Amino acid sequence: MKAALKTAQGDFEIKEVETPKIPHPDWVLMKVKVAGICGTDLRHWKVPDPKLEGKIMGHELAGEVVEVGENVSSLEAGDRVVLETVLGDDHCEWCNAQQYNLCPHLYDVRAENVSRAFAEYVVGPARKFYKLPDHISYEEAALLDTFSVSLHAIQVTGLKINDKVAVIGAGPIGQAELQLARVFGADVLITDVLDGPLELAKKLGAHVTVNTESQDGLRQIMEFTCQRGVDIAYECAGGEAMPVTFPRAASYTRIGGKVALVGGFDSEPPDVKLDWQHIQKGEIQIIPSASYSYWGIYPEMQMCLDLLADGKIDARSLVTHRFALDDINEAFETAEAKSKTNATFVALLM
Ligand SMILES: [Zn+2]
Repeated sequence: MKAALKTAQGDFEIKEVETPKIPHPDWVLMKVKVAGICGTDLRHWKVPDPKLEGKIMGHELAGEVVEVGENVSSLEAGDRVVLETVLGDDHCEWCNAQQYNLCPHLYDVRAENVSRAFAEYVVGPARKFYKLPDHISYEEAALLDTFSVSLHAIQVTGLKINDKVAVIGAGPIGQAELQLARVFGADVLITDVLDGPLELAKKLGAHVTVNTESQDGLRQIMEFTCQRGVDIAYECAGGEAMPVTFPRAASYTRIGGKVALVGGFDSEPPDVKLDWQHIQKGEIQIIPSASYSYWGIYPEMQMCLDLLADGKIDARSLVTHRFALDDINEAFETAEAKSKTNATFVALLM
């Protein structure tokens, strides 16, 4: 099959590699139809990393089942599906409790198996595939990973009806956070440093949009919340923005409120200086949110699929660019240069 392999320089080269075979009787082989580029992938873009050289990456994907293992009865060839790539080792305490997003081996296991979207075929355990209703496109389904990350943040922060919320960063995660907070009955102010994503956020239901390059975010927050600060601030920018966006999220939060860390960052810790006195005196809780798994008895990805199927969230509007797998480097350039390209979700079509 054709696959995009990481080079020593951190970009990609298209090569012919062996098509994966079903390794267990309860696994499934899927033809990838759409794969997405997310912030995590972008942080590794053109960053030399010997551990990744020659590897297939990508963890947001949807496609068609082509073959199932002999023990699989829930799926058959031809089924349209989304693949959940949050896959643990299946035997630690957290996996046993369906909190596999916290599995100590999560990233090794998923990199070896399911997080291989930038290729024509992928294999995974049958229970990780969710069937798509006919009216949901592969493109929309490829965004369910993004929505699930944002939904998990809502679970761990205990968002309530009529809460006042700030979303910091209007990339795909922030746009999903905004929409889900609206579904939950919250009022949302969203910030970014670019106008394009904020215009999209306005269309998707943001009450207030703030460009923090040209506007005073804190003043807008105080106006939005009767001078109180928000109940919950969701930091959805992550990465290199963290030294600015994390303190900003804390400063936007009311006494007794919560700051959720949703945006991802690298193992090198960001140099963040926080107003600890404001945080301690105000008993502001800092709540990390890591990937997604279950909410009670329900898989969070299935919950997002149900919301999407019912028209309560909009994935289509987030897809701004489409490329063939052969043009993956151009796709990454486009996603990275979002201030010029206005990219939100860049999809690879196969
Ligand atoms: Zn585990």
